[in-house]
Amino acid sequence: MFPVNCLETLQMLPRNGWVMVQYLLEFSRNRDTFEPMSSRRKFLKQLAMTGAVLPVIPEVLGAAARAESVLVMHTNDFHSRMDPFPEKHPKFGGQGGIAKLSTLIHGVRQENKQTLLLDCGDIFQGTPYFNVFGGVAEIQWMNQAGYDASTLGNHDFDNGVEKLASVLGHAQFPVVNCNYRFSGTALESIIKPWIVKQVGRKRIGITGAGINPEGLILDRLCKGIVYQDPVKAVQTAVDTLKSRERCDAVIVLSHLGYSYEGPQIDDKKLAAATHGIDLILGGHTHTFLEQAEPVRNAKGKTVHVNQAGWAGLKLGRVAIEF
Ligand SMILES: [Zn+2]
Repeated sequence: MFPVNCLETLQMLPRNGWVMVQYLLEFSRNRDTFEPMSSRRKFLKQLAMTGAVLPVIPEVLGAAARAESVLVMHTNDFHSRMDPFPEKHPKFGGQGGIAKLSTLIHGVRQENKQTLLLDCGDIFQGTPYFNVFGGVAEIQWMNQAGYDASTLGNHDFDNGVEKLASVLGHAQFPVVNCNYRFSGTALESIIKPWIVKQVGRKRIGITGAGINPEGLILDRLCKGIVYQDPVKAVQTAVDTLKSRERCDAVIVLSHLGYSYEGPQIDDKKLAAATHGIDLILGGHTHTFLEQAEPVRNAKGKTVHVNQAGWAGLKLGRVAIEF
């Protein structure tokens, strides 16, 4: 049995050396293959550039090999961007594409033994790959890249529930969501409320939160799906993961959006209204964050919120140190 107070110990760790270092690597422009961290020196340099807590950086690196660090890679709002943006694109010319993204992911795995690769939804819609292949191409790439889990975005319903269920039949990774009810739909047996990944000696709980479909998804495309309050649903899932499932850390894959001025629930409000979450990885608002945002949760502990832009232009990374 895990000690009951493991939750408290974990949550106290940030003050005592538990470090979450987040940094985003921009793909080099106009290259067919991204040059990942080719040397330890370069890795250290990139870490240092984030303004991380410098004295612990060598331990961050060393701990990865001792299975006490989990390096979480994440994407969101991929939007079927299998190819790089056209060279003439005014903003992202030549950037992105699965060749670069795969190379980068591979490079990160070479440097870190304990990793997770997660996605926060809106995998589909945006290029002819989706229109022609209905999402199979994106899912097959994610299988090859070795994604550990994903969640649902609003655009993932663009071909309707039946076709989404069919295309997710190709996925070799679980798709998690805890605030939609799928009873009686084709997705009922496919979407899991949460999963537990054993990474080295650590148990990492992963759940997902989806946005209110009202006004975003046509009724006929999400027929039978019932939206529920993300705060309550996520808290229930997190409580289960931390107590019954004895997880050392809990990650929420969110497609709620990073931050809104009004009352609409977002990642920062979710972080503040709950307790027990360690990391919220987000999507939907296509927010490029330079660093994970620390937010005080309902019990005064720190939860980090991150998002990695969109279109596979960035690979988000957060190192969880235990
Ligand atoms: Zn979205």
